[in-house]
Amino acid sequence: MGAVLQVRGLSKSFGGIVALRDVSLHAEEKEVLAIIGPNGSGKTTLLNVITGVYRPDAGGVWLNGEQLVGLTPAQICIKGVARTFQNIRLFKRLTVLDNVMIGQHHRFGAGLARVLLASRASRGEEAEFEVEARALLAKVGLAGLEDAAAQSLPYAKQRLLEIARALAAAPKALLLDEPAAGMNSEEIVHLEALVRSLREEGLTVIMIEHVMDLVREVADRVVVLNYGAKIAEGSFAEIEADPEVIEAYLGKGAGSCSA
Ligand code: ADP
Ligand code: MG
Repeated sequence: MGAVLQVRGLSKSFGGIVALRDVSLHAEEKEVLAIIGPNGSGKTTLLNVITGVYRPDAGGVWLNGEQLVGLTPAQICIKGVARTFQNIRLFKRLTVLDNVMIGQHHRFGAGLARVLLASRASRGEEAEFEVEARALLAKVGLAGLEDAAAQSLPYAKQRLLEIARALAAAPKALLLDEPAAGMNSEEIVHLEALVRSLREEGLTVIMIEHVMDLVREVADRVVVLNYGAKIAEGSFAEIEADPEVIEAYLGKGAGSCSA
């Protein structure tokens, strides 16, 4: 298996709702794979299954050939799959820096409390956590905001902070769930550059995204889901011209794409 992340035959139902139907896909090193599809098409469920939030009814997920199904979300994070959330999940009252340091704690086998204390300590390994966390904040464009409360950041910056927190786990694969949601065009251009630089560093990025300009600019490949099934896969140009994809979006009514 050459792919960093491989998904095969994944199915997941919630009661009578089939959220994923026999979905297979892969993402390679230094690749940005975009997942698109109308609302309710199973995109977030796919991320939830990959990251161990839900166990699939059928199918498997492999990271560098190693099966992830059956592992807990924390174990999967340690293996090298980190994510952000469609609905931002930060520790709102904690500082920006502490939120990133929380992202490191699985990696160092340190308890949450110790990691938080470490941000106020000044020696050895504990100081290294902090140096690295500050560097990650600079990388995503949040330098200077380390001591601000997470909740005081504007929405777009909270999304960048989520990315910094995910990167703190030193992942091989980074999964982003609608990172551009709520961003203006300038912020999206910044996000584009960030995703590109992460790819250059060797990361595999799987990005659920509704903002088609971003998908066009950064995705190496696009997978389209509709009613839980993969209906198309290819370059942005191929996807854009695919009658089934056009139908999937138009069939849901105008605007469903950007909701
Ligand atoms: P998307 O991210 O593409 O908008 P989701 O993966 O969130 O879609 O949802 C796919 C389908 O699965 C939807 O019909 C949604 O209501 C359903 N679903 C997702 N999670 C759950 C859950 N925990 N319980 C019940 N239904 C769910
Ligand atoms: Mg979703």
